[in-house]
Amino acid sequence: MSTTKYIFVTGGVSSSLGKGIIAASLAKLLQARGYRVTIQKLDPYINVDPGTLNPYEHGECYVTDDGAETDLDLGHYERFLNVPTSQANNVTTGRIYQSVIEKERRGEFLGKTVQVVPHITNEIKERIQILGNSGDYDIVITEIGGTVGDIESLPYIESVRQLKWELGDDNALVIHLTLVPYLSAAGELKTKPTQHSVKTLMESGIKADILVCRTEHELSEDLRRKLALFCNVQYEAVIQSIDASTIYDVPNMMYDEGLDRVTLKKLNLSNSSEPNLKQWNEFLHRHKNPKAEVTIGLIGKYVELQDSYKSILEAFIHAGAENEVSVNVVSVHSEHLDAKSIDKTLSGLNGILVAPGFGERGIEGKIEAVRYARENNMPFFGICLGMQMAVIEYSRNVLGLKQANSTEMDFNTPDKVIDLMEEQKTITDKGGTMRLGAWACRLKEGSIVAAVYDNELISERHRHRYEYNNDYSDKLEAAGLVATGINPETGLVEIVEIPEHPWFVGVQYHPEYKSTVANPHPLFVAFVKAAYEHSIK
Ligand code: GLN
Repeated sequence: MSTTKYIFVTGGVSSSLGKGIIAASLAKLLQARGYRVTIQKLDPYINVDPGTLNPYEHGECYVTDDGAETDLDLGHYERFLNVPTSQANNVTTGRIYQSVIEKERRGEFLGKTVQVVPHITNEIKERIQILGNSGDYDIVITEIGGTVGDIESLPYIESVRQLKWELGDDNALVIHLTLVPYLSAAGELKTKPTQHSVKTLMESGIKADILVCRTEHELSEDLRRKLALFCNVQYEAVIQSIDASTIYDVPNMMYDEGLDRVTLKKLNLSNSSEPNLKQWNEFLHRHKNPKAEVTIGLIGKYVELQDSYKSILEAFIHAGAENEVSVNVVSVHSEHLDAKSIDKTLSGLNGILVAPGFGERGIEGKIEAVRYARENNMPFFGICLGMQMAVIEYSRNVLGLKQANSTEMDFNTPDKVIDLMEEQKTITDKGGTMRLGAWACRLKEGSIVAAVYDNELISERHRHRYEYNNDYSDKLEAAGLVATGINPETGLVEIVEIPEHPWFVGVQYHPEYKSTVANPHPLFVAFVKAAYEHSIK
């Protein structure tokens, strides 16, 4: 029998309390004590994965090495733990039902009526235990999306109840994350919403073992005692999670509150070795004590919602700390950029990042931003669509191909400098059909990127359908936009740079997905360094 221990994280009272950060912080502490930990997210929506969701709906879609399009919380897990996740780490209701229905069609249920209990719940339990049964982990933390009491989370809650019963109290525990609101008129923190959400959990047969309470004010001892008594948890299992100035403070805050100690005690695991957070705290120290500031313009079209570019913003935090500078990211809506306003908007920046994206809206502004960076010798970093915009800009303004475009934006352009990949031409389904996940890339000797990576063969994660059109490579290279990263198997161009420019790099892949606290991404580190050098000129 597997000896893996399971921790379930549920949420009550409100969404957006930061279950993902609490799960990642606890995992960090356990990892720092020598345990092998992974985190999984179960999402109660019907989409098979978040790949088809608009960023305004769901924030960024995070991509793993194995090409899974997943919830952005997996990004936090990787950034905190520095261990890659996979498709198994994110499961949605859509995926569960899809799998059960496929089994039904194959006749696997032998004539039985297929029902939520036991068929859907069995499938959920299997998905939770796949990670534990792999033998790779001592502890699996499973975060249940949504809020307790939601109709759509019921099968998950029932699965947790069953698993907890099957595995026993030493092997499974439930952490309930809740909100303790402050009523300013009364000048008081209120425990009633928490009592109610714990009660809702109890109605489904689950007793919370640990309460993590999100709060804007310190919880007094009296209040903790009251919560413990009314919510049926031990006093030491009432954990305060007060608002933090950075998510990277949360592991230390959870350590101070004893979340890892009480977890280990309840799971009957040794807590004799203290967590080793040396590297983490060195990062935090650099992050909080910058010696200078650089300002980067993030040119995108989903800028109203910070979560849309989550991994890029976090990668800047890692790269800033590495350079001992603070990175002030200014969001610029590409739809609002035109030749007239551009100088005013971009001239105070030290670097320009043109963001990934889909569709026509806002692309002319992105092309103008590339032009501005190129002509003004400002460090430029283009990611995915941003790289494609750099190719279009160069074709239009340097090669003189005035109508150059991507066939994503203009199907009839005479100069398809960015075109649909061959294997995409027959694909009609939208879900899970892009070029996804990790692909190899060979770097050209003597290029900016070869120096940045200090390697000639790299692997990075992709998510796109369109590509650089090699029919134009001779002309573009001769004019100064050089392809410096090529997929060794397919010949696809993955990186372009301008050797004559102080720092101009466009990448077809998404480096932001691989930046972690322990391993800041070298391209972000080099771009921030170039921006710093620009700032002191
Ligand atoms: N829309 C572009 C493509 O599909 C770029 C995608 C992206 O930026 N992730 O190729």
